[in-house]
Amino acid sequence: MSKPVLPPTEIWFVVGSQHLYGKEALAQVAENARAMVAGLNASGRLPAPLVAKPLMTTSDDIRALCLQANGDARCAGLVLWMHTFSPAKMWIGGLSQLRKPFVHLHTQFNRDLPWGTIDMDFMNLNQAAHGDREAGFMHTRMRIERKVVVGHWQDPAVVDHLAAWMRAARGWAALQGAKFVRFADNMRNVAVTDGDKVAAEMRFGYSVLAHGVGELAAAVAAIGDAEVDRLCGAYEADYSMSADLRRGGARHRFVREQARLELGMRAFLTAGGFSGFTDNFEDLTGLAQLPGLATQRLMADGYGFGAEGDWKTCALLRAMKVMGEGLPGGTSFMEDYTYHLDPVRPLVLGAHMLEVCPSIAAGRPSLEVHPLGIGGKDDPARLVFTAATGPALNASMMDMGNRFRLLVNEVDVVDPPAALPQLPVARAVWSPKPDFATACAGWIHAGGAHHTAFSQAVTTEQLRDFATIAGIELVTLDAGTRLEQLRQDLRMGEVYWALSHGFGR
Ligand code: MN
Repeated sequence: MSKPVLPPTEIWFVVGSQHLYGKEALAQVAENARAMVAGLNASGRLPAPLVAKPLMTTSDDIRALCLQANGDARCAGLVLWMHTFSPAKMWIGGLSQLRKPFVHLHTQFNRDLPWGTIDMDFMNLNQAAHGDREAGFMHTRMRIERKVVVGHWQDPAVVDHLAAWMRAARGWAALQGAKFVRFADNMRNVAVTDGDKVAAEMRFGYSVLAHGVGELAAAVAAIGDAEVDRLCGAYEADYSMSADLRRGGARHRFVREQARLELGMRAFLTAGGFSGFTDNFEDLTGLAQLPGLATQRLMADGYGFGAEGDWKTCALLRAMKVMGEGLPGGTSFMEDYTYHLDPVRPLVLGAHMLEVCPSIAAGRPSLEVHPLGIGGKDDPARLVFTAATGPALNASMMDMGNRFRLLVNEVDVVDPPAALPQLPVARAVWSPKPDFATACAGWIHAGGAHHTAFSQAVTTEQLRDFATIAGIELVTLDAGTRLEQLRQDLRMGEVYWALSHGFGR
C-alpha cells in the first residue's frame, strides 16, 4: 500500500573546541565524542541515528559544515556541544548560514568529578560548563531560538529530551518541500480553516496545491473491479463487518464504493507525490460518497488530512504522524464535537462526520454503513470505534494574520460513561487539563480551531520543540494553566510577535 515519503533520519553530532590545548587533548575530545555517539545510538531511546562529525576547531570548518548540512538531504538537524571552550565568534559565519535546526546539548563526558585526582589537564578537557555558556551567548546574541538540553548524556531523562527534539526535527523535515493536495476549496464561510498559504509556505516549507474534484473522480473511476475485490477482502480480514456488507451481501456496494475511492485517492496521492490531502463535503462532484473509510485508512498510513479544506490541520497532522512514528498510540484528525456537561465530571466527545484515524482505536474497528445527514451523497462506509484511554493531546494551528499560533491542550481520554449504540462514528471522550472550564475558556481566548490533530503518541515537549524550530508561537493548556495568566501571556505575546514578525517575514 502507498505511503507518503519519509523524511531524512540522520542527526549530526557536532562538537566544538579550539587549538589551544594541543593535539593530544583534541584527540581525546574526538574519542569521547565518538563514544558518546555510540552510547546514545545504543540507548534504544532515539528515533533516528546520530552521526558523529569531525571536531570543529576553526571558523572555516564550522562554515563548511553548516553549508554541508544545508545541502545534505539526509541531515534533519544538528546536536551542538562544546566539549572544551570554542570561542564563539568562530561560529557566527556558520550559524548565520545554517538552515537546518539545531539543539544545544549541555553535557559533560564524565558524570562525576574525580575529586581525589582532578588536575588542570582534567579541568581543561572538561570545560562545557563555561564553553557551552560562550556558545549560548552567541546563539542568544544572534537571536536563534533553540532547545537547550541539560544533564549527563547517559541519563535516560536527558536522552529522552534529546529524542523529543529529534522527533520534532523529523516532523519539520517532513514538511520541507512537502506537497498537500486540496480537493475543492475550504468550506464556504468558515474562517479558521482558511489562512495565508503564501505565509505558510514561507514559514513551514510546504505547499498546498488545489486540484478539481473532477480529477480525483477520474482517478477513482479508473480503478478496476478486480482491485476493488481484493481490497474488500482485506477489509473483511481487518475489521468486524456484518454479513450484508461482505462480498455477496445486500449492501456490499456501499463498501465497494469506499474501496474504489481509497484506491483512486492512493493513486492520485502517489502520482502527485502528496503527503496529505483535504476534501470538502460541499464539493464532491463526480464522487458517489464522502470519503470516510478511505480517508481513515489513508491517515492510518501516515497521510495528513484536513476536512472541509482545512489544509493547516492536514499539514500539522502529517508532521505529527512523523513525530510520533514508532511510539505507542496513534494520531488522528479530530474535532471537539459535543459536550457532556455533568458538573462533577464534564467531558468532551471528540469525533467528526467520518474521518477519525483507526490508529487511536482501543479495539478492532467495526466497518459500518450509515446515512450521512449532509452532502446529499450515498451512505458512506466508515470505521466505528472508541479511542484508547490514557493521556493524549489536541493540537491546533491558527493563522493569526502576522504569525502562526500552535495551541496544545493536554487531555485524559476516558471510557465513555455509557455505551453509545446509536452513534455511527468513531469517537474519543476526554477530560481536558487543567479542568474543563479553564481549558475551554483558554482555548477560545487563544482563538483555537475546532479542528485539531489529536495524539496519544506526540507530547507537548515535541510540539514545543517543533514550534521553536518553526519560529512560531506556542500556547499550551496543561495541568499548570491558570486562565488569567494565560490571558496576560496572550496579550504580551501580541507585542513580542508584532515586533519579531512585524513585517510578515
Ligand atoms: Mn469539521
